[in-house]
Amino acid sequence: MSFRKLRNYVTLTLLDRGFEVENIREDLIKAFQKDLKVNVWISYKDYLEWFDPLTIIEMFDLMNVDAFIVIAYRASFLADEILHSLDRARYWYDIFIDVKVYSVDISILEKAFEEVINNILTTFIEKVSNVYKIEGICPSCLNNLILLYTWEFNSKILEGKVIEKIYKCDSCRIKIHRLEKVS
Ligand SMILES: [Zn+2]
Repeated sequence: MSFRKLRNYVTLTLLDRGFEVENIREDLIKAFQKDLKVNVWISYKDYLEWFDPLTIIEMFDLMNVDAFIVIAYRASFLADEILHSLDRARYWYDIFIDVKVYSVDISILEKAFEEVINNILTTFIEKVSNVYKIEGICPSCLNNLILLYTWEFNSKILEGKVIEKIYKCDSCRIKIHRLEKVS
């Protein structure tokens, strides 16, 4: 897949998942949904060009985001490098960057990217919540489950249109992500 095609795919997928999208640089996409801020870095390189933690924080604007997605051929390696760099920022400069880093391998792009978005929306459910409804019973503690997010999109995992539902239990705080196929 060419860089341009990959970028278009990522942008269209984010829009389909309810994000607003802003292209910052050729390799960096900013995505917003309510209070959730996610930066996506698409890299055809398999190494980091910058080693100073401050440069990395600045290049990817990591000060101002909740989640950072690395899309690359060796995405988990790059994600580890970035996490190490953020550790160094803490030791060297006393700067704590509170960002969750996710990786998406280009060779399994479609399903991996969908899964990462599912994880991010579930982790940050309070920031994106668009509904509040008691629906069902918590499988863990049997209290009420609260539906906090619902969205319809085209799933690559279930191969078709789905309704996404994210629940939280107010008692035990478990979060549950579900996809239901629309027939
Ligand atoms: Zn519960």
